Amino acid sequence: MTDRHLRVNPIRCEAHGVCAELLPELIRLDRWGYPILVTRSVPPNLESLARRAVASCPALALLLDRGSGQSSGQSSRGSSGTG
Ligand code: SF4
Repeated sequence: MTDRHLRVNPIRCEAHGVCAELLPELIRLDRWGYPILVTRSVPPNLESLARRAVASCPALALLLDRGSGQSSGQSSRGSSGTG
């Protein structure tokens, strides 16, 4: 079985809040607009919405991993972009 897990890269996240608008079932915003994951595990019925939220994140900070086994180590360092 491969569960899907949400993950936020806090370095990339720029608090746009799009993710919480698209996936309020799993993502809330703190008082500064940064996402708080209600749960990392994505239920199958919310997977398509989760994919949409990931694709819509303007900072590419929201990630959807496979839950079983290890997460594929994404070492995307470098761009600490502002914008
Ligand atoms: S949409 Fe992306 S940049 Fe905006 S709050 Fe969510 S994770 Fe952060």
